[in-house]
Amino acid sequence: MIESKNPYTGETLEKFKELTKPQIEEALEKADSRFKKWRKTSFKERADLMMKAAEELKKNKEEYGRDISLEMGKPIKQAIAEVEKCAWVCEYYAENSEKHLSSKTIKTDASESYVSYEPIGVVLAVMPWNYPFWQVFRFAAPALMAGNIGILKHASNVMRSANNIQKVFERAGFPAACFQNLVLSSSKIEDIIKDPRVKAATLTGSKPAGAAVASAASSEIKKSVLELGGSNALVVFKDANIAESVSTCVQARFQNTGQSCIAGKRLLLHKSIAEEFLEEFVRQTRELKSGDPLDEDTFIGTLAREDLAKDLEKQVKDSVKAGAKIILGGKRDKAYMEPTVLTGVTPEMSMFKEETFGPAIGVTQFKDEKEAVELVNMSDFGLGVSIFTEDMDFAKKLVPEFEDGAVFVNELVKSDPRLPFGGTKISGYGRELSEDGIKEFVNKKTVYFK
Ligand code: NDP
Repeated sequence: MIESKNPYTGETLEKFKELTKPQIEEALEKADSRFKKWRKTSFKERADLMMKAAEELKKNKEEYGRDISLEMGKPIKQAIAEVEKCAWVCEYYAENSEKHLSSKTIKTDASESYVSYEPIGVVLAVMPWNYPFWQVFRFAAPALMAGNIGILKHASNVMRSANNIQKVFERAGFPAACFQNLVLSSSKIEDIIKDPRVKAATLTGSKPAGAAVASAASSEIKKSVLELGGSNALVVFKDANIAESVSTCVQARFQNTGQSCIAGKRLLLHKSIAEEFLEEFVRQTRELKSGDPLDEDTFIGTLAREDLAKDLEKQVKDSVKAGAKIILGGKRDKAYMEPTVLTGVTPEMSMFKEETFGPAIGVTQFKDEKEAVELVNMSDFGLGVSIFTEDMDFAKKLVPEFEDGAVFVNELVKSDPRLPFGGTKISGYGRELSEDGIKEFVNKKTVYFK
């Protein structure tokens, strides 16, 4: 049995029976035979259905949002906003997929030569609990619009949301088996990836999970896309607008109770503004309201599971032992962790070198731009970086210095259906969203007429 537990109350919400071997076989067979018909549908047919999925999400956002809050402790306002964002990605791909995937003519010595973008078949998505809807929709919308079929292995603690997502596609009128949630634990995933009917896999989650999925896929010469989290730096230079950058940095670290791959996790401050910045940063962080995730005023909920809160507490404690100082928070109560700020964090400490997946931030000071760039790139992760400065020429000059998949200037790193999303180093490979995302799982077929 797979169990959904409310991390705020500790009560069990629902138990789900894992699929049996014959049920897995049936699901894969249905997905494969659906692909043979779905690949022949027009962009218009797919787009009409995708727009209906967007309508369904908007119509029942409270219902879906409430289950997200119950299952993983996300404050209800943020849960509803997540569902709305899923409607946006559905609309975006409904409107743009035909253009993204139109054949590209390339002049050669042929009478005609072009690249045709064609679906590949059934794609498996292994997804995490931190954005139980968004992580799935940003995969599913482009996959289905490209003519592929989606099967989902969702995180074990958000199975109700996983079933709700399948319901969205059913309610929108998608043909059966275009998108199926497979109620399975991770031990069953290797066999599914290796099944010849499954053509590729995408995973968002931790490095060990990504390595397992990518190894299984590559052993059968199948493509994978990995989005494996990060340790984004927020870099505040001495000429930054302090008032604006403080509130952006507070959002960057603490929204979704800090459980975001693209959250700002390392706060790097120029030493000349560090004191002024920190005073305001701590003041605003102290004002964030913790409480019941179902309460509309709550901004900080619980972490999704108690073990995740314990991991974060350990990272804080280990860093303190190594010489860092807690200037706000630091305490844990079951799955709840106080918003926490540590100063004097150095590159060898857990708060700097590991991914911290919750409401705690480490502060490090730098003396000049060279040191700032070195600190940013010192991380094994490479998802994104935010820099704060009023000098756009300076910012442009710095962009190529960073090894990350994204650089945001005077803004938190955020995902947007129109922009590619993904990382470098152990943050993974491949891109989601935008034209790049939809082209990850297509056959880029070269066509040549003599
Ligand atoms: P995991 O990476 O273990 O879980 C993500 C997904 O991968 C889940 O669906 C999980 O299933 C599945 N999974 C795990 N192991 C395997 C495997 N060997 N083969 C196939 N699928 C697998 O994340 P955790 O929940 O354990 O969180 C641990 C840490 O990972 C976090 O603290 C954070 O640092 C990072 N993380 C990053 C995320 C991001 O957005 N990039 C999202 C979530 C976590 P199941 O739940 O059944 O184990």
